[in-house]
Amino acid sequence: MMLVRYDTLHSFFKGIPQKPAIVYRDMCQGCGVNVVIKIVKHPPGFGMSGGALFEQEPEHLFALCDQCYQAMPNWAGERIMEHRISDISEIY
Ligand SMILES: [Zn+2]
Repeated sequence: MMLVRYDTLHSFFKGIPQKPAIVYRDMCQGCGVNVVIKIVKHPPGFGMSGGALFEQEPEHLFALCDQCYQAMPNWAGERIMEHRISDISEIY
């Protein structure tokens, strides 16, 4: 498990290049709370707040809330909570 890749974040903005930010909603895989991660274009990279996003394979994402990320920064990626379809449709 690794933190989400640049290419994946970039793909979120495909088709909406004029949007400066998107919101990724998911369930924390550590404790189950709802996680709302704001992803902001920060050329040449991206800024992220509200939690941490991990990637197992392209477009297979898992979120941790800030508290779980601080407790498990090297999270190995066991799926503690049942995964559910993520929603990245909300656009700022
Ligand atoms: Zn958590």
